Amino acid sequence: MTGVPENLGGAVLSVILLLVFGIVRLLAGWIQSAPVTPDPWGQEAEVALAQAETLQVCHRCSAPQEPGAWFCPHCGSAVGPYNNWMPYVYVFSEGEVFRNGVMDRLRAGPLIVIGYILLSFDYLILAPIYLVLVLRNLARQRSDSAPGAADNRGG
Ligand SMILES: [Zn+2]
Repeated sequence: MTGVPENLGGAVLSVILLLVFGIVRLLAGWIQSAPVTPDPWGQEAEVALAQAETLQVCHRCSAPQEPGAWFCPHCGSAVGPYNNWMPYVYVFSEGEVFRNGVMDRLRAGPLIVIGYILLSFDYLILAPIYLVLVLRNLARQRSDSAPGAADNRGG
């Protein structure tokens, strides 16, 4: 006899599940109790958006889009309503996110950096190379936005 109950693993698992459920319940209650904020666009923008002749625009370059388009003809960005759910097309949306991490301006918040680190694990072999490129992009942005950066570019 060791004195340790045999069913200890099940009890620990039950406690962990109860804690997770409690945290999720608290989070849901916190979100539901948040105050409803007014519509930031105003009434006339809401009416204009509801009209049938209102054109959809690209979220990246604001170019007008044809109804049912999957990709922006101007910048190639994924603009279709179901691009992220379609088995073949979602790869292009994912590629756009990867490309933005390396080439575009990012808000260098901790959540975005953690998201890119986790996303890169999708392609485990290439993850270290990709993370180096993302960090280089963030460092370049930081040096561009630093005071006196315009003075250093001239040579
Ligand atoms: Zn576009």
